Amino acid sequence: ENFIIAIDGFSSCGKSTVAKALAKKLQFVFIDSGAMYRAVTLYFLRQHINLTNPDEIRAALEEIHIDFVPQGDTVHIFLNGEDVSREIRQMHVSEKVSEISAIKEVRHALVKQQQALGKRRNIVMDGRDIGTTVFPDADLKIFMTANSEVRAQRRLAELLAKGEVVSIEGVKQNLAHRDHMDSTREESPLRQATDAIILDNSDLTQEEQLEIVLEEYRA
Ligand code: C5P
Repeated sequence: ENFIIAIDGFSSCGKSTVAKALAKKLQFVFIDSGAMYRAVTLYFLRQHINLTNPDEIRAALEEIHIDFVPQGDTVHIFLNGEDVSREIRQMHVSEKVSEISAIKEVRHALVKQQQALGKRRNIVMDGRDIGTTVFPDADLKIFMTANSEVRAQRRLAELLAKGEVVSIEGVKQNLAHRDHMDSTREESPLRQATDAIILDNSDLTQEEQLEIVLEEYRA
């Protein structure tokens, strides 16, 4: 039987950092479900998809093919054959992603793809609804939190390191906006699974976080 680890939480709580380290340590496949929503968002923006037209949305989803390709120590995401790893992290995508992720058709399509990615292999998947909707029977569920100041500073540092032009106010606004949208949408909103282990990493190093999760894994 394959083993599934679900890591959920609000934006910029350090989910993907822990998920990546964990996958590397355990030799599991790491899947960033947020990157999939971001890739769909990028496609919708480029194609000017009318978000109020379900037929147009369904047709667009049929045209989207997402691939994860390992390259060295990282995994790149491809949208219809194009490496969009960089562009999906940019602000114009972050600003739209929660609106597009709230669309029922979008969620149904991506949840199905995510479930397929978890068939017959060991995975660590991070997102918002992995332990509740995508893999309600996941073998280990982690719900990550961190205080909002820590989250905003981390996110800002990440974006600045990539050469993005952003302010701390802009980052805070975007995090608050996405948290609100993600936890109030109708379709699989961000919620803590009742059987998830809570990990508040505001004052923990990456090594400490990994150790805590590994202990839960071994238990
Ligand atoms: O994880 P990340 O912050 O990159 O995700 C970007 C956005 O994608 C989230 O703010 C949320 O709107 C959406 N998302 C989602 N469900 C997931 C993962 C991400 O709705 N499982």
